Amino acid sequence: MQGYIAKYESFATMEGPGIRFAVFLSGCNLRCVCCHNPDSWRQGNPVDSEDLVRQILRYKPYFRSGGGVTFSGGEPLMQTDFVIEVSRMLKAEGIHIVLDTACSLLETGQKELYDLCDLVIADLKFPDAEGYERYCKNGVFDTVIKTFEYLDMKQIPVWVRTVIIPGINDTKEMIARYAAIIKKYSTIQKYELKPFHTMGFSKYEQLGIENPLADTAALSPDRLGQLKQDLNEIMNKNPNQVRSFLVNKRQG
Ligand code: SF4
Repeated sequence: MQGYIAKYESFATMEGPGIRFAVFLSGCNLRCVCCHNPDSWRQGNPVDSEDLVRQILRYKPYFRSGGGVTFSGGEPLMQTDFVIEVSRMLKAEGIHIVLDTACSLLETGQKELYDLCDLVIADLKFPDAEGYERYCKNGVFDTVIKTFEYLDMKQIPVWVRTVIIPGINDTKEMIARYAAIIKKYSTIQKYELKPFHTMGFSKYEQLGIENPLADTAALSPDRLGQLKQDLNEIMNKNPNQVRSFLVNKRQG
């Protein structure tokens, strides 16, 4: 089967545990205003599944430290059948599989793919449908939540990430709303706040795509540190307190 790849990284360390071979698949069904990789939206280079597996297996000795393969994007779920086929071949070789996804599709194929994963790295971009509609141009919040429920039911380990964008979700109130969702799922092992940065801005210029956040500055390390502290405080609170805070917010 043929898939389309935006790029590879053969010694990736930021895409899951250990040293990993990261496959960045092309195509995405979201258009997040904070996207650092708009180049991945276009169709990438074609690759045959068996060729890709052969290429990955050359790095197998480096995966001994708990590493493996990470499928990222773009949105890897846009090429679910291809990723399933490659993952099956890799699992047969005992390779650890991570899927890095925005969880924006959930049909039978995606469930089948999740079942093959050792770890899912999931984005929780916004804590409600309005946020997804406004800032990702696709109101897939319900699908994200249904995915969390599915992964929880199957007890598939999950790490969740949220990009914090100045002026959009960089408040303690927003962090509390994210935290209330995270707390519901026992399978979520880790929740990370990631800073919005401007390193992808030149890609918008090169591609001639309008950058909706062209006037937004990177999130400062101080602000990120403060929000992480807020998150720790909220996560360590009695869950009921977080829930009642949210009820008040919604009524307001
Ligand atoms: S899901 Fe990822 S690749 Fe797709 S638009 Fe959003 S940030 Fe970009």
